[in-house]
Amino acid sequence: MIQGIGAAAGVAIGKAFVLPNWEWSLPDNEVNPVDLAKEFERLYEGIRTSKDEIEFIKREFREVVGPEESSIFDAHLAILDDPVFMSEIRGIIERQYKAAEVAVKEAIDHFVAMFDLLDDEYMKERAVDIKDVGNRLLKHLLGAPEVTLPSDTQPYILVAKELSPSQLAHLNPTYVLGIVTMMGGKTSHSSIMARALGIPLVAGLENKLSNPIQTGDMLVMDGETGAVQLHPDESTVREYTQMREKQHKKREQLELLSSVESVTKDGVTLRLAGNISSVKELNMALKYGAEGVGLFRTEFLYMDRDSFPSEEEQFEVYKLVAEKVGSNPVVIRTLDIGGDKHLDYFQLPEEQNPFLGYRAIRISLDRKDMFKTQLTAIMMASSYGNVKLMFPMISSIEEVQEAKAILGEVMEDLEKRGIPFDRNIPVGIMIEVPAAVMISDSLAREVDFFSIGTNDLVQYVLAVDRMNEQIAHMYHPYHPAVLRMIRMTVEAAQDAGISVSVCGEMAADERSLPLWLELGISDLSMSPQSLLKVKHRTLNTLASEARAVAKACFKSRTSSETEAQLTRFAVSGGIPLGSGAETKERTL
Ligand code: PEP
Ligand code: MG
Repeated sequence: MIQGIGAAAGVAIGKAFVLPNWEWSLPDNEVNPVDLAKEFERLYEGIRTSKDEIEFIKREFREVVGPEESSIFDAHLAILDDPVFMSEIRGIIERQYKAAEVAVKEAIDHFVAMFDLLDDEYMKERAVDIKDVGNRLLKHLLGAPEVTLPSDTQPYILVAKELSPSQLAHLNPTYVLGIVTMMGGKTSHSSIMARALGIPLVAGLENKLSNPIQTGDMLVMDGETGAVQLHPDESTVREYTQMREKQHKKREQLELLSSVESVTKDGVTLRLAGNISSVKELNMALKYGAEGVGLFRTEFLYMDRDSFPSEEEQFEVYKLVAEKVGSNPVVIRTLDIGGDKHLDYFQLPEEQNPFLGYRAIRISLDRKDMFKTQLTAIMMASSYGNVKLMFPMISSIEEVQEAKAILGEVMEDLEKRGIPFDRNIPVGIMIEVPAAVMISDSLAREVDFFSIGTNDLVQYVLAVDRMNEQIAHMYHPYHPAVLRMIRMTVEAAQDAGISVSVCGEMAADERSLPLWLELGISDLSMSPQSLLKVKHRTLNTLASEARAVAKACFKSRTSSETEAQLTRFAVSGGIPLGSGAETKERTL
């Protein structure tokens, strides 16, 4: 048995297909100085074609796995615009009279060697990105065909030295049973993408194989534990087959829960809604039994295009979502760009601290024309379902009042135009900035509901950039400061008699359930893929026991203690630490 890194869960059994490495035969003649301009033109043409291709893959991939994973390709586009990378290539052509493809190859080798020297996982991943983009550019410059994967044969386990996001994007999950890579780890882009696609992946086998894997070799692998067995004997194949069947059965059983009500063993009902950013994601959420949409991230409607979407275009999407969801609520959040989300056609200022900068409601209030277009479209859709309106990143009463005043103008305009809308549309805000928590009692008198955005709240409370992998280990949703902020928000909402939900990633972590039960939160919204596991946990939880665990967590002084308590409770499904008792898992 070879031990690699379990990077995407799941068991696979099958024959290997070894992906050949990209090998290029490069011209070795010098470029005639009079032809340098032509060489540059070839380079720019190659860059343009590569960009078009990456944009295409990004769009396709977004449809399958969602916007976050597909944003990997933004990093690739950025490399093709990177002034340092590009000037290195241009310099080699100009000063050494080398052909464009030779210059690209030398620049890739230079940067990859530099990043590889650094003992930093994140930088090593950037080296993979540079290689990926560089190889794409080389392919266009040389007119070389892409390595084709077998698609008309038996399904296979793909074996590669390293797999780039571009290569992964081209895979057909029906044929790829699993992936084994020599390089990479849990946080590499390919692993994130494999998890989103549901393909098991074991990474990091470099130097662990006594003989290289050959195409046609029989393999078994477990993407959870990282175990790989080459040429397994019959009993190992039997063992893995049983494990795989068990996993499939578990997934199938979970899917049976789609239409089951989400209620604890002692009768506490939770409403589990979906976070969506497209109609495709809505379909997935509905398939997994979402009771409405707790967060519609509308910014994704504004992406992958050349200009702002019109009132009509937005209305069509909001209406479709409202109609599909029917009587359940759809919380439409107004544009939340800035931070890590950008629009190609809307130049945001270069900022030192984009997450503390020109973002979300701040942009909407500044660009009233754009804001009004969106509010008009949302209001027009409000007569087609149970639509609620939500403003992101609120940090003051003035912002809410200003946003509501603009909403009032929009309503007046619609009335004049004779267009029907829901005059009593519930208006809420995201609580994701510590200032909003501290004045949540005042804010609660201005709005109809709160939704706690823990992704941003955690980063702002702890001063830990949610995008910075170097400090990712400090990003603790269970930090006592975060828990106190959440409790303060909930109490303010309860005192004012308004509803409060949680829509950040914390809601998707089933271990958090005791916290919500103790606080009296009954509305959670999460990514569609997380709905069934949270429902399963709910069905197997006794709220009375969970509350006792949560009480201890709210008193705890460290994140690690809270995390340990919650993990233990989720695993045992039982009562607080130290009691020794266990609750039997409820059968599905
Ligand atoms: C959040 O911040 O928790 C949230 C749900 O919003 P987003 O992840 O879109 O910033
Ligand atoms: Mg947010």
